[in-house]
Amino acid sequence: MNAMMEAQPHDHDEVARVLLVDDDDMQRLLARTALENAGFAVIEAADGSELPAAFEQHRPDLVVLDVLMPKVDGFAACSALRADARGAHVPVLMMTGLDDVESINRAYEAGATDFVTKPFNFEILGHRLRYMLRATRTADALRASEQRLQLAQRIARLGHWECDAAGNFARWNMETHDALGLCDDVEVGSFAVLANHVLEADRERFSEAVRSALRRKESFSLEFRLGLREADARNVHIVGVAEQREADSGYYFIGTVQDVSERHRAEQQIHRLAHYDDVTGLPNRAAIRASIAEALAQAARHERVLAVLSIDIDHFQRINDTLGFACGDELLRAVSARFRHTLRISDTLGQVPVGMAADALGRAAGDEFIVLLPEITAAEDAAVVAQRLRNALGKPFEIGGNEIHARVSIGISVYPGDGTSADDLLRNADAALAQAKREGRDCYQFFTTQLNASAFKRLTVEMQLRGALERREFMVYFQPKLAAASYEPLGFEALIRWVHPELGRVSPAEFIPVAEETGLIVPIGEWVLGEACRQLAAWDAAGLGPYKCAVNVSGSQFRVAALPERLARVVEAAGIAPSRIELELTESMLMEDAALAIETLDALKALGFGIAVDDFGTGYSSLSYLKRLPIDVLKIDQSFVRDLPGDDGDVAIVNTVISMARGLGLRTVAEGVETAAQRDFLRDAGCDELQGYYFSEPRAADDLVAWLREHGETARG
Ligand code: C2E
Ligand code: MG
Ligand code: MG
Repeated sequence: MNAMMEAQPHDHDEVARVLLVDDDDMQRLLARTALENAGFAVIEAADGSELPAAFEQHRPDLVVLDVLMPKVDGFAACSALRADARGAHVPVLMMTGLDDVESINRAYEAGATDFVTKPFNFEILGHRLRYMLRATRTADALRASEQRLQLAQRIARLGHWECDAAGNFARWNMETHDALGLCDDVEVGSFAVLANHVLEADRERFSEAVRSALRRKESFSLEFRLGLREADARNVHIVGVAEQREADSGYYFIGTVQDVSERHRAEQQIHRLAHYDDVTGLPNRAAIRASIAEALAQAARHERVLAVLSIDIDHFQRINDTLGFACGDELLRAVSARFRHTLRISDTLGQVPVGMAADALGRAAGDEFIVLLPEITAAEDAAVVAQRLRNALGKPFEIGGNEIHARVSIGISVYPGDGTSADDLLRNADAALAQAKREGRDCYQFFTTQLNASAFKRLTVEMQLRGALERREFMVYFQPKLAAASYEPLGFEALIRWVHPELGRVSPAEFIPVAEETGLIVPIGEWVLGEACRQLAAWDAAGLGPYKCAVNVSGSQFRVAALPERLARVVEAAGIAPSRIELELTESMLMEDAALAIETLDALKALGFGIAVDDFGTGYSSLSYLKRLPIDVLKIDQSFVRDLPGDDGDVAIVNTVISMARGLGLRTVAEGVETAAQRDFLRDAGCDELQGYYFSEPRAADDLVAWLREHGETARG
């Protein structure tokens, strides 16, 4: 405030004071009279040596100074005045009798504002001084305003710069340097140089924005980060305004720089506080609710199923009460860490398969967590995840020297059945959670109660299936296939059987789909093929056959990379020629991705495998498409055989399929033959091979030996 007051010029109404320094009494008198007439107040001094004291005492607004004086001349007196801060800006008029360039130069060097040569017109002197005074006041005002601006900029920590149209800085103040956090010895001559100090991640954007603004002569405003590492980079806001220079109509830019790191930190902090829980670092209820709403929009668009799990740690209050809040918090963190590990959370690198939405985990309040499963194929899948989350807590936690066994209750709601809004799903998951607690805790419950039963079954199958191969719970059964003309056994279809110690016999129709989804079908399918080959070799050795064997290949197995090579390796290991193996693929599988199907089939054929289209007639193959597939056999689906020969529709279909197959050079196999009438019809219609309960059910290999000896002979005999 003080500085501003001092810098202010004297009030215009006030009489301006002139300090008149001259050793000539006559000159002084004349000058004084003229100046007083012109409205000035005059103070006199008779020599340059008297100037400092007089100036100090009267603080004149102007000084009129003679050059030639006995003790201290005007040049020296003026220099001394200028050296003093208080006299630095006061206007000084030098009176010289010496009309030569040399002394005029000296006068200016000494700091004089203007000069007059004697003898001079006293009338004009007054005007001259008034003019000087006005110019000084304008300069003072400008200086004061500049000082105020600088002060304001310093307070606001606002850097200020100017650059030419090419981006070279003409001005660059201290605050700019400070705002950018650059070391003192760093020279920044242009935007191009400044770009080198910008954080690498932001550099391209920064350079492009500046380049384009300069090129288009457009004002700009941008934020970027400065520094070497992201962790300690500064956030800087820079504004540049394009100005046209009057003189040469060229452009220049004038602008500011401000360090906004503080504001950024504050914003981030606010965001964190608003969206994240500070104990676990997980999204809070509001944030997870927003994620659910977002996922719902996606699920609706793609007609997908989505689940929300509400999870509560059983008897958490007891832990808080006995071990204290610090231990309670630690348990929450430990539990959330295990959950994260179990889920496909996007920030645990590599956990989310490409093209699949990430699961989300949040903490709702207290000991309650929320899980969002944005992409599941069926409601039962949510139970699989719930079970996995429960398993994740199997091992006890070690907290504050205590071993803690945490158990959870889980409530599940599923879109679209249990609600179509985030709030509905959250509310219903909570309701299901309450039910889980009523059921005795340490379990999960669906909001829709029917789901509990089917989920349980699905879950049990999946869990049990995982160890089934190692536990040797699978067996391969063989069902004979006979020549329709002679009823001679030509070979078999290998069909997997699963006998679980507790679940008993589990039908392939029930577990094959689960094996497909979990990827277990790959090792299982290859095991079946291996078993089939080993059995063929055993029969060869026993002097039976030689027979062929059909093996089923499922959809997800068919899409596994390098399937032909994998299957060839299995067959080779058992010493069986691939031509004795007929791979059965379903029609719908082949239709799904025609290009891939043809490529894979070609490779399989090249290796020597036979190819059959299973369940033919249930898919939608077009004839033209079928013609392009390198296949050998069409297996007529049981559903067309069942009502033969009475059903006219089925009779027509079967006749058509057989004659069409003939046209394409394919063999036909009828499956599900249960009666002599079906057998006779199919034989007469020209079907090549028959398979069904009428001849034999699928049996264990040992049980087939007697059957083979008997039928082999009947057929031959
Ligand atoms: P699929 O390949 O069409 O197999 C024929 C099914 O019909 C078998 O059922 C067989 O037992 C049954 N069947 C045979 N003759 C008759 C009959 O006269 N009447 C009736 N009603 N049914 C008959 P299964 O063994 O239960 O297999 C069901 C499906 O599971 C199979 O259908 C096949 O798609 C799949 N599957 C079985 N084993 C395997 C395997 O090792 N790998 C793969 N990927 N899938 C398999
Ligand atoms: Mg089959
Ligand atoms: Mg079939």
